[in-house]
Amino acid sequence: MPTRTCDALIVGGGPAGATCARQLIRAGLDVLVLDKQDFPRDKVCAGWITPAVIHSLELDCAHYAQGRVLQPIHGFCTGIIGDAPVETRYDRAVSFGIRRREFDDYLLRRSGARLRLGEPLRTMVRDGSGWLVNGDIRTPLVVGAGGHFCPVARWLGARSEQPKTTETVVCAQEIEFAPAAAARNACRVERDVAQLYFCPDLKGYGWCFPKGDYLNIGLGREDNHRLPEHVEQFRLWLQQRGIIPGELPGRFNGHAYLLYSASQRKLTADGVLFIGDAAGLAYPQSGEGILPAVESALLGAQVVLEAAEDYRQHKLEPYVRRLTEQFGERSRHPPGASWLPQALRQKVAGKLMASRWFARHVVIDRWFLHAAQQPVAAR
Ligand SMILES: Cc1cc2nc3c(=O)[nH]c(=O)nc-3n(C[C@H](O)[C@H](O)[C@H](O)COP(=O)(O)OP(=O)(O)OC[C@H]3O[C@@H](n4cnc5c(N)ncnc54)[C@H](O)[C@@H]3O)c2cc1C
Repeated sequence: MPTRTCDALIVGGGPAGATCARQLIRAGLDVLVLDKQDFPRDKVCAGWITPAVIHSLELDCAHYAQGRVLQPIHGFCTGIIGDAPVETRYDRAVSFGIRRREFDDYLLRRSGARLRLGEPLRTMVRDGSGWLVNGDIRTPLVVGAGGHFCPVARWLGARSEQPKTTETVVCAQEIEFAPAAAARNACRVERDVAQLYFCPDLKGYGWCFPKGDYLNIGLGREDNHRLPEHVEQFRLWLQQRGIIPGELPGRFNGHAYLLYSASQRKLTADGVLFIGDAAGLAYPQSGEGILPAVESALLGAQVVLEAAEDYRQHKLEPYVRRLTEQFGERSRHPPGASWLPQALRQKVAGKLMASRWFARHVVIDRWFLHAAQQPVAAR
């Protein structure tokens, strides 16, 4: 097979890979994106994005919304599963609902990268100071953007140089469907209000997220133990409250990801950089992973360009510092850890969640919208 060369090979065409590709191409690099799936493809995700994502992606909302779902969210219902919820309203759109099938395809095509889709990473071997990938792609730089199970790390021999015992893996399941008109009218779902309900033991939360004609329902937890049971209890509770239809048209689909505060993933190696879920970057309280995927891609692309074709690990190390500046120090403690006994935490949390002030200023503004944080700009 004839060998192809590129200035950078990005493995994974999700939001992280597509964003990194776009930035490198803007600077004149020849970029190839390899993804095991054909696009458009489904991705297990609630599809909730914050305005910071739109800013960092320089997304033209009017253009994007032509023929695609971009649901503005003006309010949230929050609380503990089983308790009375609190509704918080805003006079502006504070979040948006997208469908990953559409969103990821749009970003990938917009990047302008050469694409090799429907082809997994099969082999990756050292070739001088660069890499030979799948036997026919020669490149000085591989960007690992293959999500939680990114194969690039495996080819480096190890995910991490440290023990993984404190890694907190979030396991989540969701279902996305368009209810028939009659079922939709019978549901107590306002189109522009997202519903977020924490598990009584505070180890995760469930959501019911409207997006145009679609509804996304799911639940994620820090421990994988009995996840389907938690999902089923949540589904029943939503159904009893008349929020969702009695019958769902399919099964819940699951996936995993790592929270930034507890992840120990490798971030750089000689000729390799990891971004997005491959680097384990999701926000601890909300599990939001699309914004960190986009921001890490922008920071990674900056460092690649500054390295000026010398991709030895020490030239890529500024990436680690910039991630820390943006997201803070990685803690060694799992996000759920607390000095308060579990029963007391639950009691305190129940009272706090019922407070309108706490719901607006802490749960939504701080945990879910990161209102105080400055997003990374594309330029
Ligand atoms: C149930 C659930 C709900 C979520 N909801 C939200 C939400 O509402 N908002 C939010 O911000 N985050 C959410 N997240 C997290 C979010 O989905 C991820 O953080 C985000 O997709 C990370 O983007 P990425 O580009 O790093 O990886 P991905 O989006 O996972 O993209 C990785 C790409 O790599 C490709 N790939 C994988 N293996 C290979 C291989 N061997 N060879 C070639 N290509 C490969 C895949 O096909 C895929 O296209 C949710 C996650 C789950 C599980």
